[in-house]
Amino acid sequence: MVQVGITGGIGSGKTTVCRLFEVLGVPVYYADDRAKELMVTDPELRQGILELLGDQAYTADGALDRGWIAGQVFGDEQKLEALNALVHPAVWRDTARWNKQYNDRPYTLREAALLYESGGHKMVDVMLVVTAPRELRIQRVQERDGLSKDDIRARMDRQWPQAEKDKRADYLIVNDGQQSLVRQVWHIHHELLAKATKQVS
Ligand code: ATP
Repeated sequence: MVQVGITGGIGSGKTTVCRLFEVLGVPVYYADDRAKELMVTDPELRQGILELLGDQAYTADGALDRGWIAGQVFGDEQKLEALNALVHPAVWRDTARWNKQYNDRPYTLREAALLYESGGHKMVDVMLVVTAPRELRIQRVQERDGLSKDDIRARMDRQWPQAEKDKRADYLIVNDGQQSLVRQVWHIHHELLAKATKQVS
């Protein structure tokens, strides 16, 4: 089975594109959502977080205190790295378990915002990158989340520039509101099916 990664800057349209792949029957693993779940449900990961950050990482009812954790790790590069070193391997272990149920499929998609930044692109066979002009991304996130432009720009600045991702992509999906997403996804889907068939034969 071919493991395909999909990424792109904040508001580029990763989730929107993944929904189109799902319509075509492709299983999609949403790594960022799953990471948040695993930080609560994976005993090994939970223990690691407690050791790194202390009891305050979780609220009294056992939920993750994301606001408190963000306050601890943003601005403390070493702590952020240490947290990532716990979370990323746990999510990859979970991805491997998840993939097993799709052994009969030609390929699965794994969506994550920071696939390049985390080095996760080395763990997949093919990388798709969704790209859109910066101003359009800001406008879309503003409409979706109601954040200020400054907040969105600050989030963007914590990621690699979109252009750095674009130039590394095996397939670039342009989500500029002009070019048809459906056509691009359809084309890439068929190329990936052909690649998977070649890998089998
Ligand atoms: P994030 O990194 O913040 O999770 P994302 O890359 O997954 O974002 P989406 O959530 O797919 O991006 O898209 C951002 C917003 O823009 C959503 O509200 C989505 O509905 C909207 N959007 C995405 N693509 C288009 C498009 N081609 N036309 C109109 N709206 C779009």
